[in-house]
Amino acid sequence: MLLDYHMHLENGPFTREWALKFYDTAAARGITEIGFSEHVYRFKQAWGIVEHPWAYERCTEDLDEYVELILALKAEGLPVKLGLEIDYAPEKEDFIRELIKAYPFDYVLGSIHWLGDWGFDNPDWIDEWERRDLDAVYAEYFRILAQAAASKLFHCLSHPDVIKVFGHRPPGDLTRFYQPLVETIAKVPDLCIEVSTAGLRKPVGRLYPEPELLKLAKQHGIKITLASDAHYPEDVGKDYPRAVQLLQEVGYTTITRFSNGSGEQVPLG
Ligand SMILES: [Zn+2]
Ligand SMILES: [Zn+2]
Repeated sequence: MLLDYHMHLENGPFTREWALKFYDTAAARGITEIGFSEHVYRFKQAWGIVEHPWAYERCTEDLDEYVELILALKAEGLPVKLGLEIDYAPEKEDFIRELIKAYPFDYVLGSIHWLGDWGFDNPDWIDEWERRDLDAVYAEYFRILAQAAASKLFHCLSHPDVIKVFGHRPPGDLTRFYQPLVETIAKVPDLCIEVSTAGLRKPVGRLYPEPELLKLAKQHGIKITLASDAHYPEDVGKDYPRAVQLLQEVGYTTITRFSNGSGEQVPLG
């Protein structure tokens, strides 16, 4: 079975027609179930969850409208799931917990896109990388991601090493960053990490996460989800054969399927 649990409707309207384009691509690529995971900062109900003018400008949508659209697709019998991609920040845990409780999500993704005021994966702010110490950036990113895991708010951590998005990488073995994260995730029952093909479409040109991180996750019994992080219909399930190959090399035989907040393992492929 192939699933794609990370995609965004943000380049179109919250309409059945636009959402079905994502589903149609999935079906054509042999993907049996998809999950929508709109960015939380777009929704007025989540105003302030990302404290930055960039996010305020984009905080224009109604979460109820998005949820109702996906629930209507589910009610039709389409194999779709209701998800949300939430920017984690330690000081927003209570806000995030209340928001998740208020809607019938099948799963929620926890993501790090910001280190303080710096949206490190945004091409508009790529220059900031030149002013930063790579070791310190990686250390901060993986420390906050481990906090996201320990918060127990999420079902899955998205694109676990998205910090490499533009190809920046500190010298040496990165296990020093991966090990504490993996040990924290392993203590949280049923918390998955996402294997994402989105990195192949970014300057880094690699899957998220690195094989070394995925191997450590496997050794610690951590379950995974499979995702494209598509922002356009044509990217749903893109490059899946490469992700499946990596998973098989690492020894994964199952992926996680979510319904109403509970995960089950289904055969991969
Ligand atoms: Zn993301
Ligand atoms: Zn995303």
